[in-house]
Amino acid sequence: MATTFDDVKKVLQKTGDKVVKKTSEVYEYTKLSIAMSGLKNDIDQLYQQIGKSVYSHYTDDDFSIDDISGLCEAVELKNEEIAKIQEKIQQLKNVKICGNCGASSSEESMFCAKCGQKF
Ligand SMILES: [Zn+2]
Repeated sequence: MATTFDDVKKVLQKTGDKVVKKTSEVYEYTKLSIAMSGLKNDIDQLYQQIGKSVYSHYTDDDFSIDDISGLCEAVELKNEEIAKIQEKIQQLKNVKICGNCGASSSEESMFCAKCGQKF
């Protein structure tokens, strides 16, 4: 009787661990998705600022790209952050990203499903 109860407890503990792991993965995925949409919003706002800045210089003869280079650099940094987050999300989903065409394939694949590039 005692043995059976211990066995059940062990199974429950094992199952519990799995659930916890899954939950933390979902949590991590949600966190990354939120961070990603935040960055995309930031980029949209930067694009707006770039547009406004270019337009406000519309009548200026002395407009140079330096006037908006800071904003463009900020967009580049945000894009780099997005790329890092995308990589993490792919790792969570257990997929491989093709270095040639950027398509995603399952973790077990030896070749890219889209272009045939070897992994
Ligand atoms: Zn490919």
